[in-house]
Amino acid sequence: MSDNRGNSRGNGRRSSQGSRKSPGNGRRSGKKKRQAGYRLANVNRGLVILIIIAVILGIYSCAVRGDREIVNVDASEPNIDVQLLDVNPYSRPGTQVNQINGIVVHYTANPGSTAQQNRDYFNGLKDSHETEASSNFIVGLDGEIIQCVPTWEMAYASNERNADTVSIECCHPDESGRFTDDTYRSLVQLTAWLCVKFNLTQDDVIRHYDVTGKDCPKYFVENPEEWEIFKENVGKAIEKSSAE
Ligand SMILES: [Zn+2]
Repeated sequence: MSDNRGNSRGNGRRSSQGSRKSPGNGRRSGKKKRQAGYRLANVNRGLVILIIIAVILGIYSCAVRGDREIVNVDASEPNIDVQLLDVNPYSRPGTQVNQINGIVVHYTANPGSTAQQNRDYFNGLKDSHETEASSNFIVGLDGEIIQCVPTWEMAYASNERNADTVSIECCHPDESGRFTDDTYRSLVQLTAWLCVKFNLTQDDVIRHYDVTGKDCPKYFVENPEEWEIFKENVGKAIEKSSAE
């Protein structure tokens, strides 16, 4: 927008100059040619500016999508802050899991809450008896990972799939349920690492929604193409580690 304004201002100045001094025909036609040249130069400049803007916009839109597509992580073990819940009937029943057939991704549905707060809430259920809920892992807003329940023990997160899956709860800053870049990266790495650990692939990674139809994890339910990209990223991370 500001470029268009600049051009028209330039034209106006030149044409007023032209009307002030116009001594002879020859010189005028020369000036006309020159003005035509200026106009052509202006058009060319305008085109170049448009192309530059288009290229910048193109790169920008790729980058916005791309930060979710090209995640430079592998399937190595991430930093995990192990803070196991106390064994109790409301969040850590202590039930052994015989076989792990999948990874289930969740969102906390509590915008702005931290991994620590969610972990402490789960642990507090032993006293509050409010509900039965927990998760094997929680990924925080800054990408920190807290483990609440050992992978070979059942957590209360994924309904009928509690007994044969590992669950990951993810924190999110707002109602949209979209994860921060840090949360996303840690989630990709943690999921990829768990896949390798339990001999699974990205096709064994599911949403809570795929178990019960619940709107969880909200952003990946409402944006199924982003869910597919996430799984691709997990696959790439697994590949990267198996190639090493
Ligand atoms: Zn869920």
